[in-house]
Amino acid sequence: MQLNRTIFLVLVTFIIGGISLVGYKFTDNSANLQKTDLQEKYSQVKIFASSESDFHAIENAGLDLDHVESIDNYVVAWLSASEIDALKRSGVAYQVTVDDWMQYYNSRPVMSEPERRLAIQQSANDFNVTHSVYGSMGGYMTYAQVVNKLDSMRLEYPGLISSKFSIGSTHLGNQMWTVRVSNSPDAPTGRPEVWFHSLIHAREPMSMTQNMYFIYWLLENYNIDPYATYILRYRELYFTPVFNADGYLHNESTNPGGGGMWRISRKPCTGGTGADLNRNYGPYEFWNWAGGGSSTVCGSETFRGNLPFDQVETQNAMNFVNSRNFKGALSYHTFGNYFIRPYGYSGALTPDENIFQNFSADMILQNQYTVGRSLQTVGYTVRGTTDDWYYSDSGHAKIIAMTPEVGTSTDGFWPPQSRILPLAQSTVWSNIYFSLANGGYVAPVNTALNKSSYVPGESGNLKISFKNKGLIPANNVKIELTSQSPYINVSGVTFSYNSIASYYQDSVSLNFNVLSGAPLNKGLPVLLRIKQNDTSIVHQQRIYVCVGNGTTTLSDSAENGTGNWTFTGGWGTTTSQSFSPPTSFSESPTGNYGNTQTRTMTLANPINVSAFPVTVLSYYVRHDIEPLDNAYIQVSSNNGTNWTSVKYYYGQQLSWKQEVLDITDLVNSSAQLKVRFIIVTNRSVAADGIFIDNIKIQNYQDVLTGVSNNGEIPLSFALEQNYPNPFNPVTKIKYQLPKAGYVKLTIFDALGKVVQVLVNENKPAGVFEDSFDASNLATGVYFYKLESGDFTDIKKMMLIK
Ligand SMILES: [Zn+2]
Repeated sequence: MQLNRTIFLVLVTFIIGGISLVGYKFTDNSANLQKTDLQEKYSQVKIFASSESDFHAIENAGLDLDHVESIDNYVVAWLSASEIDALKRSGVAYQVTVDDWMQYYNSRPVMSEPERRLAIQQSANDFNVTHSVYGSMGGYMTYAQVVNKLDSMRLEYPGLISSKFSIGSTHLGNQMWTVRVSNSPDAPTGRPEVWFHSLIHAREPMSMTQNMYFIYWLLENYNIDPYATYILRYRELYFTPVFNADGYLHNESTNPGGGGMWRISRKPCTGGTGADLNRNYGPYEFWNWAGGGSSTVCGSETFRGNLPFDQVETQNAMNFVNSRNFKGALSYHTFGNYFIRPYGYSGALTPDENIFQNFSADMILQNQYTVGRSLQTVGYTVRGTTDDWYYSDSGHAKIIAMTPEVGTSTDGFWPPQSRILPLAQSTVWSNIYFSLANGGYVAPVNTALNKSSYVPGESGNLKISFKNKGLIPANNVKIELTSQSPYINVSGVTFSYNSIASYYQDSVSLNFNVLSGAPLNKGLPVLLRIKQNDTSIVHQQRIYVCVGNGTTTLSDSAENGTGNWTFTGGWGTTTSQSFSPPTSFSESPTGNYGNTQTRTMTLANPINVSAFPVTVLSYYVRHDIEPLDNAYIQVSSNNGTNWTSVKYYYGQQLSWKQEVLDITDLVNSSAQLKVRFIIVTNRSVAADGIFIDNIKIQNYQDVLTGVSNNGEIPLSFALEQNYPNPFNPVTKIKYQLPKAGYVKLTIFDALGKVVQVLVNENKPAGVFEDSFDASNLATGVYFYKLESGDFTDIKKMMLIK
């Protein structure tokens, strides 16, 4: 019998503005650790399983795998000593690659305080998230620290996040704390609802950390980033960061410095403790599927329980789902770099394969995760999982449910501290997209100027192929183009739609004239906006209409060898296809690409475009790629340290097509621009692949934005990039106002602290320039924010002393 002791902790002692938060309690059993509770030895193992029969042999030997990374003809897993015994019995070849997990864990570098501060500064710079999500358990927050954070989020942003509420007690009496995030957080609103939960497996703290980071991203970017603003206004998001609180607290008690490998619940079963909560969901026929996919043996790490929902935590989740109207749910795990979709139990396609594909194709744009059902990603079936029940149970409306697996097998269950923020950031776009697409969400499928450059006096058009990528109709949609340059005329082009049905796709052409007085070799900015609900911006994109040929900083038609590029995984030149004969680049110069491959072609030397405000990348492409595999075009402004995808391809495009991509905002006049072409493939079906030809980078100068033709009153608000940038110690900030009003221009440091208010007064309409003197400030990233009427814009600058 276990004697649980209850600890009352008053951990939250904020008293702000007279509001005092009450304490909370949690229960653990650390005082009663038995010998059997001590952690087994875990090892990293390479398993040479490539066919379904290999995985069946492993399962028949009593090992139900979960969380592997598929690489070439093997998978990588972290297994306990008893699991390795089972693997041995299966006869499938394997190799131990790291013998002792805890020894390995303890040998890894720990971040110093200055290193953490620097990482948070980069987070402020790149994501405008200034809050820390680090904790004291090997860099991860403990259960109490998560609760503390939820309380402090509410204190700081009472208009955007609810007070925490419990969706039920765990077996040991801990609470499954949950928050509602929207700009009307104190009660349900009837908006499309999405649920994010994490730590259903107790040894996966990165799953929780990325959810906490995403909450901060939303809170801090409200009224700054159009996506964050739209989501908070028109969606209702729920987060349950610690699903399996008992298991997580158990890891805290056995391994207070992190690295605990307890996975399952803490409810006793005959001969052991715990069930796998992600094998304990119904319906019965899924949970009990004859093809396997969970263990029936108490003591196994994939023990399914004695009946579906016989664990109180899954019961709580069931009741919560049945009491709400979720349209989407993401059950976050680590690791493997996957987005896994139903069905898990039989491996069959759902009737909504097309919807899942529509979601995942865009969600993986920035992290290049592999997508598919469990059979196509990890290689085996799983039964009794969250996704299958959320998606298909009849007790609630169908939910688009997926399992993201964050990180690689090298990151493992407790990624090194230096990986915490990069991994948290790697899912931000996925979460944004998932939140948007569970309601009405109109976005471009493609935007293309009819020419790559123009001559003065010429007219042109921007063709927007757009689609409602969301699950429900989008209402009162406007697609509009506005000029931000005195040399380009856009005459009243706004397309309006009362309603656009889910997955309806169409295109419009937005016409413009380049005025005859336009200067050569300049980029003329226009602003594309898609609004929903009349005025709320759901997509915003600046595009430069380029005049003249500019300056070419890269031109490669694949005819002069491969010296410009570094290849991994088999890229090269081929004569089997080309736009400009005889040669093009391909990731598989002869024949098809392989399964479970990542192949890259990266610019060997960075390009310096610091003299140019405007950068345009163009190339010709043709492709034949299985729909669940993906090719991406990416750019980096820091010599390949971070990459942003600008385009992805899957399916067939068998005629050559030119792409002209305005990468100005991503490149940011970098001295270290790199471009990379990458393909990522899953476990099934290979094809001919992608061909690239005539790659070009062209650069242009900027011109003053948005002043009307008579040169006096600007047409729109604008905040320009400061110059010079980087600077020391003085820089100039230019902005324009289309109408008179109160203006505030504020300088912040990377942690969001105001360092100076430059302007704080009423001003007439016009173009203005102010100097900012940073003589008494330290080297680093700073932000400047312009506010006037409804207009807000924020830009960053770099002080280097
Ligand atoms: Zn998991």
